[in-house]
Amino acid sequence: MTDNAPAPLIQFAGVTKRFGALTVLDDFNFEVAPGEKVTLIGPSGSGKSTVLRILMTLEPFQEGRLTLAGLSYQEPGGTGPFKASERHLREIRSHVGMVFQSFNLFPHMSVMRNVAEAPVRVLGLSRDEAQARAVDLLAMVGLADKKDHFPSQLSGGQQQRVAIARALAMRPRVLLFDEPTSALDPQLVGEVLAVIGDLAHEHDLTMLLVTHEMRFAREVSDRVCFFDKGRICEQGSPEAIFTAPSHPRTREFLASVL
Ligand code: ADP
Ligand code: MG
Repeated sequence: MTDNAPAPLIQFAGVTKRFGALTVLDDFNFEVAPGEKVTLIGPSGSGKSTVLRILMTLEPFQEGRLTLAGLSYQEPGGTGPFKASERHLREIRSHVGMVFQSFNLFPHMSVMRNVAEAPVRVLGLSRDEAQARAVDLLAMVGLADKKDHFPSQLSGGQQQRVAIARALAMRPRVLLFDEPTSALDPQLVGEVLAVIGDLAHEHDLTMLLVTHEMRFAREVSDRVCFFDKGRICEQGSPEAIFTAPSHPRTREFLASVL
């Protein structure tokens, strides 16, 4: 890192993640600068979701260290078993929002409550403050008129836009998207990508996006990382990765999806 580069907001240092005998991430090193928009691409099973789930504190890991917004995910110097306290994990998690492939809205809550509930419960906002925030965010994702609907009354694209508003309501510094359009009918993909594309212009928001929408990745990313077998096999600017990939595995993967 040069002197004038900002400290990374996210840093995986030698992280190894196993599920039983299966090593999913092997001595994984990865840094993301504040405000950077990074897309993770690669074959199914290469570890992309695992990276996001570790960031969201949904998965422990066995070795190495994760630092997020200056908070370490493991005792300093520790390489032993994962053992951060639940309180510490909650604090780390408070900086991260995640949007899943399958929307995961609360089915029994209105759109408004889906967006306003966590800011009340977790951040301690008053209900009025949280609802005002939710109204603004629902307008931003183009769903101001749906605030009293329930998830089952919305299309998949609309549900996913609510999920994005819900994640933003917590004002995370990092927003993670795990194949946010993969579960959608093709005609609904565009409306969700449009919202994510708008967010990509937010200077302060750091974004990590797993997607198979290569054209979109090319438009919004500062950097594209190609994953293969739990490692970043190649990374660079979208132009470099999509027009002149240097690694044979990257070329092979792109030929299979483009
Ligand atoms: P990707 O998102 O790139 O498709 P994942 O991170 O989901 O890959 O998975 C990486 C590997 O870890 C895969 O081999 C997958 O089967 C395995 N894996 C993921 N979650 C679990 C789990 N909870 N238990 C066991 N194996 C898992
Ligand atoms: Mg995945």
